[in-house]
Amino acid sequence: MNQRLSKFQAWMKENDIQVSFITSSENVFYLSGFYSDPHERLLALGIFQDDEPFLVCPGMEKHGAKNSGWESEIIGYSDIDHPWEMIQQAINKRSKNISKVAIEKEHMNVERYEAISNLFPNATFISAEEKLRKLRMIKDAKELKTIEEACSLADFAVEVGVSEIKEGKTELEILSAIEFALKKKGVTEMSFATMVLTGANAASPHGNPGLTKIQKGDLVLFDLGVVVDRYCSDITRTVAYGDINEKQKEIYDTVLNAQLAAIDASKPGVTSADVDLTARRIIAEAGYGEYFPHRLGHGLGISVHEYPSMTETNQLILEEGMVYTIEPGIYVPDVAGVRIEDDVYITADGVKVLTKFPKDLQIIRQ
Ligand code: MN
Ligand code: MN
Repeated sequence: MNQRLSKFQAWMKENDIQVSFITSSENVFYLSGFYSDPHERLLALGIFQDDEPFLVCPGMEKHGAKNSGWESEIIGYSDIDHPWEMIQQAINKRSKNISKVAIEKEHMNVERYEAISNLFPNATFISAEEKLRKLRMIKDAKELKTIEEACSLADFAVEVGVSEIKEGKTELEILSAIEFALKKKGVTEMSFATMVLTGANAASPHGNPGLTKIQKGDLVLFDLGVVVDRYCSDITRTVAYGDINEKQKEIYDTVLNAQLAAIDASKPGVTSADVDLTARRIIAEAGYGEYFPHRLGHGLGISVHEYPSMTETNQLILEEGMVYTIEPGIYVPDVAGVRIEDDVYITADGVKVLTKFPKDLQIIRQ
């Protein structure tokens, strides 16, 4: 039995939960080692306090599930089977007197909730998500190594993007050059839709790349992430194309100072809020407080947004093993949009920055 599963079972015992039914691809992967994107089909992990767990997946993925190292029962169903009947049989073989069932309330849809409620008409349903978020928040050595690899590919991706900047190229042309270079290295998935934004578009925190052409005097913002063995990275860099004006420079320096200060403030024992506020105060003191409209960052791992949430109110105490982003930004419409984002890891006594692409203002003259 793997350690993650036994920690989860210990939580079930403490809370008197007889059955857990986990259905998101991310949490099934975290607990079983098997990843699948089943589209509309059902993927699930049945977990019990002491009995053998089972994995439910489309029949054609049974082989892959076995190869992933999952050693317990696998229930593969075909497109004409009734998986809920098979699940009922599997549960009946294991547990009786079920009064409390944990599910992923944010993930499960109403149809499946009705199906599982029919199996346990007298049970109380509670959410498994908070516990899983907390378990996933502390990364082990292998997870850290995988994230580091994803980060170094993200550094490479930004390097490619910067080298592709040229007068008249569109955002999408540069974006496709980045992803082409990554695919040649074997990368199959990005953490989210890659962003290359220039000029006025960069001044929107979540803009969409399009056919806008790069011009001298623009700031160009890259925000992207690479997935390696199911783990995400997430980096943002903003560079100048040709000479930029004093205001743009001032905004860049303010974001960089805030970002560096938040990295310095990151260590075990301080709160998420302390780190967010360290950056937020610097931006506010420079007069740009209202132009920093989002949290400082977010945890990352199997999901690109997970715990810890780096907000100005989160009193969560940082601990060794946490991985999160530090990404202050200032977006002044028609003036400049700058964001600088690194992924960091909390060590026993400080912080390790995992993304390493240079952050001093780069003025591209090619
Ligand atoms: Mn991010
Ligand atoms: Mn990002």
